[in-house]
This record gives sequence, structure tokens and C-alpha cells, in this order.
Amino acid sequence: MFTFEPANYIENEAKDSVFFVIFDQSILSFSNENFIRPLTQDELTWSYIEEKERHFLGYLNKQPCYVILVEKNQCELEHSIFIDMRSALGRMPDQLFDVIARSIQIINWSKDHKFCGKCGDVLERHPLERAYHKKDCIQCKGQLVYPRISPCVITLIYREKEFLLAHNKNFPPNFYSTLAGFIEPGESVESALKREVKEEVNINIKNLEYFSSQAWPFPSQLMLGFYAEYDSGELKPDGEEIDDAQWFTVESMPTNIPPANISISGKLIENFIDKS
Ligand SMILES: [Zn+2]
Repeated sequence: MFTFEPANYIENEAKDSVFFVIFDQSILSFSNENFIRPLTQDELTWSYIEEKERHFLGYLNKQPCYVILVEKNQCELEHSIFIDMRSALGRMPDQLFDVIARSIQIINWSKDHKFCGKCGDVLERHPLERAYHKKDCIQCKGQLVYPRISPCVITLIYREKEFLLAHNKNFPPNFYSTLAGFIEPGESVESALKREVKEEVNINIKNLEYFSSQAWPFPSQLMLGFYAEYDSGELKPDGEEIDDAQWFTVESMPTNIPPANISISGKLIENFIDKS
């Protein structure tokens, strides 16, 4: 059982802290353990990792929890191995997904915001807030650069007992998922959802119903999950992003769908099937 209480600032470094370790797009894990977990303070000491930067994340089971970015994918601990974060998804306990997602997003944000977008100067970490800034710059004094979150809509469309799943050109063969897309500036969640569906599969939807949300750290999406009912129009994939879309039923499922334990897409599908 894990509890996580997010926080951006810690007064004093405590002795009983725990650490997630990231190199590039991979995370430190142990080949003899099923699940990803943070290192203890002792393990960190004996890992001899080359620390580049660290960020405080909050409290994991009341212990201060950090993410550390390292210079090299080297670690002296027995069985330690850096694994690609996307392939690590299946090895994250549900309750740790959010804190690992937070780790990845903060590291990605930190890597991408070393310089000021206005004056081009090197930025510094703000001492109290989760932000970069440059305190003595005339042009951009007082400007704080916070981690960016990109809201996305994701939806399972249904027509009585049938539900619509699509195959993206970049998916493996026979893998079908729900439709999703980024919300554009000035758009409401509802209009983004209707536009995305119309663009990708040429149909109109109605009766939008919010389901739940999930942080998705590749690189910084906040997925807002909805159910929507088919309204009108002829199903026709756009051919650019989506090369196939079909109505499925519980009896006629595609071979591969997203797993429900780690993705909101999978949860939307699983929950619909459970209800019908
Ligand atoms: Zn500046």
C-alpha cells in the first residue's frame, strides 16, 4: 500500500528519503523484482550514480521522495538496470503510477527549460516554487516558468451495445484503441472532443459524459476521459492519423487493446464492457 502527498518544497533534507532515478528516457529498476520502486537512502549511497540534478516530489508513505536525473546509465547496485519508461509501464504498481508520472514530467520539464524564452539567458531554479526564473533580468524579471501540462480528450464512442475503436498508423497491427487528441487554444473540452472525432473518423457525437482523468507523462498530457454517444455521419477514418476504425462488441473484440490497469483508454473500454 502506498500513499503519496505531493509537495514542491522541503525545508531540510531528511535522512529517510527515497529516490526514483532517471537517465534520459529510462528509469532505474531491479531485474530480480517485479515492480519499480524508489531507492532507499542506503541504496543511493552504494549506487555510486552520477547525480546531475534532483527534484523534490512530495512524501511517499510519509518519507520525502525525490527524482534524480543522472549523467550516465550506470549504477553499482546488484541487479540494477535502466529500462525504457514506456516499457516500464506494465511494471508500475497502480498506486505508484502517479508519482512516477510526476517524476518523468518534472525531469522532462526541467531538461527543456534551461533557458529563458524571452531573453535567451540561462534560468535558475526558484528556491521555493516548482519553477525556473531569472531574478535579475530586466526583460523577464518576475516571470516564472512552471511545468507545462497539455490537456487532451480521450473518448469511447458507443452505439447501443457497440463501441468504436480505431487503429492509429503508428500502432502495432491489430491494436485498437479509443480516439484521443489535444485541446487547442480557445477550445472547450466538449468542442475539442467533437472536433477530434469529426476530424479523425467523420462522425458526430452527442451526450458527452465525463468518466475520469489520468496524467500521462509522454511527455506531459492530462488525459480527460469521456463516453460519447454516436449521433450521425458515416464512419470514415481520416487516412492520415487513423487508418481503420470499426464498431466492436464484447463478442467481437480486436486482438489487442490497451491494458486497463495502466491506461485510461483501457479503463474506458473495460468499464463499458462491465456495464453492458
Ligand atoms: Zn529572460
